[in-house]
Amino acid sequence: MEGLVLAVAVAAVVLLAVLGRGLLHAAKVAADRNARPDSLRHAKLVYVERTFRIRHPIRLVARIDRAYRLNHGPLVLVELKSRWTDRPFDSDIIQLSAQRLAIEAGTGDKVETYAFVSVVHPFRGSVVRHHKVRLLEAAQLLELHRRREALLAELVPAAYSRSTAACRACAFRARCDRPRRGVH
Ligand code: SF4
Repeated sequence: MEGLVLAVAVAAVVLLAVLGRGLLHAAKVAADRNARPDSLRHAKLVYVERTFRIRHPIRLVARIDRAYRLNHGPLVLVELKSRWTDRPFDSDIIQLSAQRLAIEAGTGDKVETYAFVSVVHPFRGSVVRHHKVRLLEAAQLLELHRRREALLAELVPAAYSRSTAACRACAFRARCDRPRRGVH
């Protein structure tokens, strides 16, 4: 009798463990579906938090949040951001464009020319807004890289940021003459 009770108890524990794993998996799938844009609802999740490194045409290390594939077509990139402002930034577009270059140059796979920036409010964590953005062409990205290298080498003068809004939270504000001069 004791043996039977033990066997039933073991079977119950195994069943609970299997159910628990199943529920955890279901929760992850649900969370992923919530985090993806509607147009990618039926897309296959191909990469999650994967790093790509390339040496050509430039040295680049890009970590992608998520990449989906729709109907055997090109990959679609999604970048998750936790921020107060519900909008994509220029830096998001540059980041996603670098990811695109790293995947295409590193794997030969094709990546769509658009991507999504999915913004999660820091307090309302479950609320996700998906912003579709157009990515930079590889040539535009390489030109940005070339200018960055030239700036760091002090071969070209730096320009003020396009948006004065960027100055408000800029770490270099104290050293920059734009706020003092009131240049717009
Ligand atoms: S404060 Fe100066 S360095 Fe900072 S974003 Fe504005 S212009 Fe650029």
